[in-house]
Amino acid sequence: MNISFTKTACPKEKPDSSVLGFGKYFTDHMFMMDYTEGEGWHDARIVPFENLSIHPASTVLHYGSEIFEGLKAYRRKDGKVQLFRPIENIRRMNLSAERLCLPQIPEDIALQALTEFVKTEQDWTPSAEGTSLYLRPFMFGNDETLGVHAVHNATYIIIASPVGSYYKEGINPVKIMIEADDVRAVRGGTGMAKCGGNYAASNRAGKRAEEKGYSQVLWLDGVERKYIEEVGAMNVMFKINGEIVTPALSGSILSGITRKSIIELLNSEGYKVSERLLSIDELSAALENGTLEEAWGCGTAAVVSPIGELSYKDKVYTVSNGKIGELTQHLYDTLTGIQWGKIEDKFNWTVEL
Ligand SMILES: *Cc1c(COP(=O)(O)O)cnc(C)c1O
Repeated sequence: MNISFTKTACPKEKPDSSVLGFGKYFTDHMFMMDYTEGEGWHDARIVPFENLSIHPASTVLHYGSEIFEGLKAYRRKDGKVQLFRPIENIRRMNLSAERLCLPQIPEDIALQALTEFVKTEQDWTPSAEGTSLYLRPFMFGNDETLGVHAVHNATYIIIASPVGSYYKEGINPVKIMIEADDVRAVRGGTGMAKCGGNYAASNRAGKRAEEKGYSQVLWLDGVERKYIEEVGAMNVMFKINGEIVTPALSGSILSGITRKSIIELLNSEGYKVSERLLSIDELSAALENGTLEEAWGCGTAAVVSPIGELSYKDKVYTVSNGKIGELTQHLYDTLTGIQWGKIEDKFNWTVEL
């Protein structure tokens, strides 16, 4: 695939790594290509980062046909830049596309787009401890009509944002509220797809949790509101009486690449990970009788996020004395070590630019 390149006439100044935060600054360029039914993907281009021009009747603005991905480019100590399991993001994006009736992108083309774009913007990959270049590929239905139907035209874009360390003052365990009313997804719905609509539907619970001093909500299943699903934008894992448990991918849970990597890592170290149903009753009992040893969320942004407090209805429980657990710390050190190229990548997960 030929990707045209239009260089920006006014390169921006790169922000200092101390002010980065998450998703506040964007690089000089973006990747774009368009899809037209009958013609396929066309006009692949890297162009200056700028506002989009969209028809007011565009499908995405009315019917929410949108999917996205999130992955990072990491600057290694030797100065080289590497990606972590990008092919997994590409495959998951195609699964999301299938669910939302958006066009899929052949894997080789999607990988070429990603790597050529990151090569163009690689100078934006910060090098301070814990920082990275966050990549946000996304796709939306772009038919210029109000008729409701599967889309015939779509746009695919990749933007990039240098992001700061998730943990500025060391790893602080987070406080999580178990959501008893709203649900995020149901089996047969879009929970397994990474689509904007899932986030729109979870904002209300997230806002209520924040008002009560919690950083995110833990979702229960949408049918019985009984089984643990995942945390906000992370998958979730528990160590209960020596057993490592994570909810099975039931159709309503997003299949996280961090989740998958942790399972593979633990298996390689001789741990057994049970992917199974975990009810709120079982979890409450483990919290009550002290057999819940550790709990953590996992996702690209934080990698591993220890849970220090869980609340359900009127009860508040402390986990691991509010500190990071031993296994949680080990997982954090190992995964981030591989991502930033500090420890050997036996799994072949990283892709050097
Ligand atoms: C992206 C996401 C995750 C984490 O996936 P990773 O591939 O590990 O980043 C988990 N849950 C939801 C709802 C997500 O959108």
